[in-house]
Amino acid sequence: MEEKKKEYKCKYCGEVFEKPLLLAHHVRAKHKRAKKREKKGVAIEKLSEQVNKTVEAIGILKGLQVSPHLSDEEKKVLGDVSKRIEELLAYMQKSK
Ligand SMILES: [Zn+2]
Repeated sequence: MEEKKKEYKCKYCGEVFEKPLLLAHHVRAKHKRAKKREKKGVAIEKLSEQVNKTVEAIGILKGLQVSPHLSDEEKKVLGDVSKRIEELLAYMQKSK
């Protein structure tokens, strides 16, 4: 059992090494872009900002939709648009 434990698996690509030092070298050589994670964090932050703005936009559209000054056709257009934005929002939230 002990023998099998002497494997060090790369958390990025799954490659297995016998020694932690080899793994460390591998990670440094092949995955030195591990800092990308930080950038991804910023991207996610921007995405949730976008999501919030989109939620706001849907709210505005829904508010307009019940306006008494609009014709049925205009209301229908607004309904279609907010539906499309809601779909986009769902997609954005999935990719988070
Ligand atoms: Zn790797």
